[in-house]
Amino acid sequence: MELYELALERAGAPNLAELQRREGLPPTGRLDGPTWGALLPWLRGYRDYRVVPGDNYSRIAARFGTTVRAIITANPSQDPLRLYVGQLLTVPLGFELVPTDRPFSYALLRLCLEGLAARYPFLTLRDIGETAYGRKLPQAAVGLGPRRVLYNASHHANEWITTPLLMKFLEDYARAISENGRIYGFSAQALYQRTTLHLVPMVNPDGVDLVTGGLQPGDPGYEEARTLAEGYPAIPFPQGWKANLRGVDLNLNYPARWEQARQNKFAQGYTRPGPRDYVGTAPLSEPETEAMVRLTELTEPGLTLSYHTQGDVIYWKFLNMEPPGARELGERFAAVSGYTLEDVPFASGFAGYKDWFILTRDRPGYTVEAGMGENPLPLSRFPEIYRRNLGILALGLAEG
Ligand SMILES: [Zn+2]
Repeated sequence: MELYELALERAGAPNLAELQRREGLPPTGRLDGPTWGALLPWLRGYRDYRVVPGDNYSRIAARFGTTVRAIITANPSQDPLRLYVGQLLTVPLGFELVPTDRPFSYALLRLCLEGLAARYPFLTLRDIGETAYGRKLPQAAVGLGPRRVLYNASHHANEWITTPLLMKFLEDYARAISENGRIYGFSAQALYQRTTLHLVPMVNPDGVDLVTGGLQPGDPGYEEARTLAEGYPAIPFPQGWKANLRGVDLNLNYPARWEQARQNKFAQGYTRPGPRDYVGTAPLSEPETEAMVRLTELTEPGLTLSYHTQGDVIYWKFLNMEPPGARELGERFAAVSGYTLEDVPFASGFAGYKDWFILTRDRPGYTVEAGMGENPLPLSRFPEIYRRNLGILALGLAEG
């Protein structure tokens, strides 16, 4: 589904011409610049609004279907009692921003992050690196606390359902903070004061776009990927794609017994770039893994969660290393999610992010394999996945 269709749906307009008519644009039915400008608020979830005579927050809230509290949250430096004509306000629109009923592209991710940062200015965004194809890798941070945790998703392209999982959590958490509410029973404000959450919702945006249609035949990287995939005809293209667009499996590219991972995967026939399981030419040969290592060094989290999909299982060890407290917290994660806490099978037990984190930090790091079935998991599984992982995500903030 195209982005403009999501915008039309939210605007309640049956087609582009109708939206153009409402916005006072020529009803051409075409996606020109001004039309994108009119669609954008429905994708970012807020409007830049200039105060007119007679305005107050209640009137503005009623006009845009939002609440006074949402406007106050989005404009922390403005005094609601001292509005002046022409003043610029950020007005959140009255819908949940993160869609969970459609594939996540990189473009949609950026719109959601920008929108959440506008609605909740206590949330900060920055880019931690850039892919080989020039997509910047966004990271969100929220919290004031001295404890730090790092959650990441979509190392693997066709496990992209983990991106809306983290994004919906971010939205629900930010809203709970702003409303002084609770998340999974925890006081959101208490978590916010205790812990700083660093979140990388899409480690592999090039690969995700290949799988979800953000990349189309003819786009940079698409044909190269298809050529690489031809070397592995048994793997469906692009749905079976896990790697980045250079054909390197990012979760086999960390310096944690990488040579062992190489040996295992070469023995299975993954000897050159392709859709999955190729370890790269060297540890950290890829910009995405290098960016994750740099972010980890910068933030030194006490806990990391890496989201994948396959098996309803939580992996918590590297070799025989058991970081202090890791088993106990892992058991609590298992209890709140119904997932099982397990040791990693030997064939896939090396060179992952979690492996590297445990090896170099000896602090709790987990791979959560959410959901079961064939990747990419269908969005019909999303509600269950979210329900089962909300406890893990909140508990991580409370205990990490
Ligand atoms: Zn995975």
